[in-house]
Amino acid sequence: MSSSIPPAAPASGAASEADAGPRAGRVALVGRPNVGKSTLLNALLGEPIAIISPHPQTTRENVRGILTVQNAQFVFVDTPGMHAPRTRLGRWMNEHAREAEREADVVVMVAEVPRMEAGAREARPHPADLELAAGLTRLPGARVVLCLNKVDRLKDKGLLLPLIAAFTRACAFAATVPMSAKRSQGIDGMIHELRALLPEQPFLFEPDTLSDQPVRFFVAEFVREQILQQTKQEVPHGVAVVVERFDEGGKIVQIEATVHVARESHKRILVGARGSMMKNIGIAARERVETMIERRVNLRLWVRVTPGWMENAERLRELGYAPPEGGEPKPAAEADT
Ligand code: GDP
Ligand code: MG
Repeated sequence: MSSSIPPAAPASGAASEADAGPRAGRVALVGRPNVGKSTLLNALLGEPIAIISPHPQTTRENVRGILTVQNAQFVFVDTPGMHAPRTRLGRWMNEHAREAEREADVVVMVAEVPRMEAGAREARPHPADLELAAGLTRLPGARVVLCLNKVDRLKDKGLLLPLIAAFTRACAFAATVPMSAKRSQGIDGMIHELRALLPEQPFLFEPDTLSDQPVRFFVAEFVREQILQQTKQEVPHGVAVVVERFDEGGKIVQIEATVHVARESHKRILVGARGSMMKNIGIAARERVETMIERRVNLRLWVRVTPGWMENAERLRELGYAPPEGGEPKPAAEADT
């Protein structure tokens, strides 16, 4: 996997960033579902590695993307959104976000500009965003940066400063960067702020690494992405994709994967008339994988009904949803149903 990131520019002035010693570190992107964390990761990297959708809870596991510019290396960790979990899978998703936060050198809290009615005179932060910001005060202040995303929603830019002030009352952020991840606006400013907060240390990965996660992880993500895009509402959240075979020995990379769904009715929707839906999903996902690895790919998909997998610890493990290092969070009383 190689990235399209340009090579380091030659150092210019004596005091330029390029002249200083190397910096490297982990940068966790945390925040509520749907605020634009995965869009931000892709914009920072300049490559669409994380899957994005208008549905909340699209990202299930931490996705790592590496950006090396000049003499700084950022290991970004995109996390599932913090939310009130209803399933065992949901609790693990939250735990992955917390783990990323704990291990990070810098935490970026992504929050969104609220949707505004025409002529609105005030923009107020989402109460859950303020709660999250307040919670981050337990981390040393210098490490937390606020990304105020979706500023394209603000027609009246005069509303921006009071909105930022409301956030900074909740948490003393090391920096605040208003931006539009979707339009790639504010990216350079964000990278500049983050660079200053990275520890001075040698690079953690080869400079042309795009992710330290295996290609098969991204294959499963890209199949799930197409399912999110091509089916409606209830199907995507009950879907898990397991790559059973990944053989890159031949001229064409051979990949086989099983799509697990929670219900028979979901299988019918997914397969579609004469298998047309699954075929389209397979074609689009294959193209994404081919672009990422710059190889030709043969992708074969099967659909299987695995009832209740989102609640069953053993099934979850089989489907690759392992709890993070700290172990599975234990609620007081719980039945495996
Ligand atoms: P995540 O759940 O935090 O990872 O959010 P996603 O990155 O999946 O994005 C959720 C939704 O917000 C998608 O529909 C994105 O297209 C949209 N979105 C992301 N960034 C922006 C932005 O800067 N402006 C606007 N208007 N929408 C955005
Ligand atoms: Mg996401």
